[in-house]
Amino acid sequence: MSFTVVLVGRPNVGKSTLFNRLAGKKLALVDDTPGVTRDWRSAPAHVGGLSFTVVDTAGLEDVTDDSLEARMRRQTEQALARADVALFIIDARAGITPLDRHFANLLRRGKTPVLLVANKTEGKASQPGMFESYELGLGDPIPLSAEHGEGMADLVEALLPYAPSEDEEKAEEVDDGFDPSIPIGDQPEPEEDRSKPIQIAIVGRPNVGKSTLLNSLLGEERVLTGPEAGMTRDAIAVDWEWRDRRFKLVDTAGMRRRARVDEKVEKLAVADSLRVIRMANVVVLVVDAAAILDKQDLTIARLVISEGRALVIAVNKWDTVDDRAMALRQVEDKLEAALGYIKGVKVVTISALKGHKLDTLLDGVLETYTVWNRRIPTAQLNRWIEGVLDHHPPPLVEGRRVKIRYVTQVKSRPPTFALFVNKPLDLPESYQRYLTGHLRESFDMPGVPVRLLLRKGK
Ligand code: GDP
Ligand code: GDP
Repeated sequence: MSFTVVLVGRPNVGKSTLFNRLAGKKLALVDDTPGVTRDWRSAPAHVGGLSFTVVDTAGLEDVTDDSLEARMRRQTEQALARADVALFIIDARAGITPLDRHFANLLRRGKTPVLLVANKTEGKASQPGMFESYELGLGDPIPLSAEHGEGMADLVEALLPYAPSEDEEKAEEVDDGFDPSIPIGDQPEPEEDRSKPIQIAIVGRPNVGKSTLLNSLLGEERVLTGPEAGMTRDAIAVDWEWRDRRFKLVDTAGMRRRARVDEKVEKLAVADSLRVIRMANVVVLVVDAAAILDKQDLTIARLVISEGRALVIAVNKWDTVDDRAMALRQVEDKLEAALGYIKGVKVVTISALKGHKLDTLLDGVLETYTVWNRRIPTAQLNRWIEGVLDHHPPPLVEGRRVKIRYVTQVKSRPPTFALFVNKPLDLPESYQRYLTGHLRESFDMPGVPVRLLLRKGK
């Protein structure tokens, strides 16, 4: 299931540039001359784990006769009517113009939810426009540089609440009697639907033992393994059961295949992992006990988290390790240094070759999957935030304290929370990190990404 995002704004604010960036190709023409792009364009976009259809309204403004306003309004309204959310783009360098105000009025009156995007915010020249944009009455601007690709993560976060859950999640929620009108944390706790397979990706550098693990899990020689990196075979997906739970295993043969292109190894391996990570619920990162958590391992681990997936680390070839205590300490130190912000990532030592500890690994997968699906009732969350505010309120910003009003869970898979705040931009990042960490600890959510979205709320 996809959703539709429409880009709205006066000419030259950067709609086409953003469209191209979201669609990942050079589709629309970009030019300094207003109105160079003429048609509506729509394209599939895949950014930061989100998939949606992006619609560019660039060119709708380019009308020379005096019915400009009427036509613009009609066309924009048509585009808006089909969209789940509109990105209203302003040029932060140029500041707010009368035409921006005109668009803002149009949008405020409509039914489509609007996110305000301040484009061209690379560098300092954009600050005045950012502040001016508050007066449009459309909430906080999301700072972005479409041209330089800055701010895309924030944009994705802001879009997240509008994204329907993936097909299977949707099915699950329908099965649950999910009611979209109440916060997710307040939905009745669903019976876990055991008929839906848990999608597991097995990722890792070449030669760490991914295929061996897959074979051991499946109990048959279905997958070719060998000592040399770069063996050719295609990615596979296998349905499989363990203790009455269904799993779908996905392997990343592609990583190995391309690992021969030496100079690009790292990039390609990461790109390939990304593909399977996005298909997965839980990602098992296999690392070699002889070279625990090197740079590339950690890159993949961070990717799993930034893609919103649950992470379990399998330290393989444990049968070859002599000083196990030291090896374990090494793992912990490296995890703390590189992924300290996500406490409690499950680490399981295994021997894929000998079939050791595979049950422990799968238990870890199930536990992490459960956390990833967790829903926390709003009442509990608000008791929690009250406690936090009593003991560790946000710091003063220019003598004033940001007011935190309310918190609710807007999504699971991964757990995602909206924090309603009077001045979201004034809540320091360090404090947001503190809140996220505290939330993770208080509600016992180890090893999965926990997302906190700031929302403006009175
Ligand atoms: P549209 O008319 O709204 O579709 O705007 P375009 O995408 O055609 O962009 C208009 C101009 O703004 C082009 O020259 C772009 O290169 C430039 N532009 C777009 N995004 C950015 C940005 O993030 N920063 C800067 N400095 N310029 C940008
Ligand atoms: P992949 O490239 O990650 O799929 O790695 P493979 O599964 O092809 O394994 C690479 C090599 O490591 C093979 O020679 C395996 O036999 C060996 N290997 C895999 N798992 C283990 C293990 O648990 N212990 C030992 N000693 N060797 C292993």
